Amino acid sequence: MPSEFDLIRRHFTRPARHADLSVGDDAALLRIAPDMQLVVTTDTLAAGTHFFYDVLPHDLGWKTLAVNLSDLAAMGATPRWATLALTLPAVDESWVAAFAKGFFDCAGRYGVELVGGDTTRGPLSMTVTLFGEVPEGQAITRAGGLPGDDLWISGCPGLAALGLMSLQNRIRLTDDSRALAALHRPIPRVEAGEALRGIANAMLDVSDGLAGDIAHLCECSKLGARLDLEALPLAPLIAAGVDKPLARQVLLAGGDDYELLFSALPEARDILDVLGRKFNLSFTRIGQLTEEAGAILLVEGPETSPRPLDVRGYDHFASPD
Ligand code: ADP
Ligand code: MG
Repeated sequence: MPSEFDLIRRHFTRPARHADLSVGDDAALLRIAPDMQLVVTTDTLAAGTHFFYDVLPHDLGWKTLAVNLSDLAAMGATPRWATLALTLPAVDESWVAAFAKGFFDCAGRYGVELVGGDTTRGPLSMTVTLFGEVPEGQAITRAGGLPGDDLWISGCPGLAALGLMSLQNRIRLTDDSRALAALHRPIPRVEAGEALRGIANAMLDVSDGLAGDIAHLCECSKLGARLDLEALPLAPLIAAGVDKPLARQVLLAGGDDYELLFSALPEARDILDVLGRKFNLSFTRIGQLTEEAGAILLVEGPETSPRPLDVRGYDHFASPD
C-alpha cells in the first residue's frame, strides 16, 4: 500500500508555474498583482450526500473542481490556484489515479494550478478551495441588481436533475446523454463569467434551482422580480423526453446545474447576443427585476395576471448542500 507521501507525489504533484511555492512544503506561496482582488471559494462533495459511491472517479475529479469554478465564474473572476483536501476510506490507487486525472483535466482546461492540500483517511469526501483574481472593484456580486434590469440565465438548468432522476429510475428519458453529462461533468461558465464583467449588474450560479436562486439575487439586491414562464428554456429538457410540467419543475427547482443567473440593463441585449455566440452558450432572457423588494411574480401570459412564485412549492427536488 503506498504511503500518503507517495500518493501525493505520484498523483497530485504537477509543476505550478504561477506559484512561488507549491505542493511539497508546509504551505504554498502565491502572488497576486497589486491592482487585483483575491477571490476565494470552498465547496465539499461528500459520498452519499452529493454523489453515489459508484460514480466514475474521473467524473468525480472533474466535478470536484468544476463546482468551485462555477462559484468563481459567478463573481466574474479568473481562476488561478486550488487546494484539495481528500478524505479516502482506503487507498485504491487506480481510483485515485483516475480521480486525479479528472481533476487535472478540469484544472488544465481552466488554467488552475493545484498548489496544496491534505490527504486523510475517513469517509469519502473531497473539499476544494479555489483562489482567483478579479480587477479591483469589478467583481459581480449578488447585490448589484437594478430595477428594470433584464434577468438572464445561461444554458439549460434542470438537465442535471433529470440525469439524477433517470439514474434513480424515477423517470425514463428517451435520450439521457445530455442529462447525465450535466450531472457528472458540469461545464463551469468561466469564460462567460469573466466576459460579463462590466455587463452583468448582479450574478450568481444556479446550483439549487432557478426559483430559489432568483430569490437569493432579489434578497441581496433588495428588489423583486417578474419571471416570464413562457420564456424559460425548456427545449433541451423536453428533447430529453419529459413533458412540459416536469421540465418546468426541474428547471425551477432542480439542483447541481451550475449555470449563471444574472441581471443586466436592457441596453446590454445586443452585446449578450454576441457573447452567447462567441461562447456557444445560450443566454435566455427570462424576466426583469422590479422595485418591489421580495415580490417574485410569475407571468404566465398576457391573459392571466401575475401570481407569486411559490419558491418552496418548487423546493422538493432541492439537492443537499
Ligand atoms: P503537513 O503534514 O505539513 O500538513 P502534508 O503531509 O499534509 O503536510 O502534505 C504535504 C504536502 O503535500 C503539502 O505541500 C500539502 O499541501 C500537499 N498535499 C497533501 N495532500 C494533497 C492533495 N490531496 N493534493 C495536493 N497537495 C496535497
Ligand atoms: Mg503542514
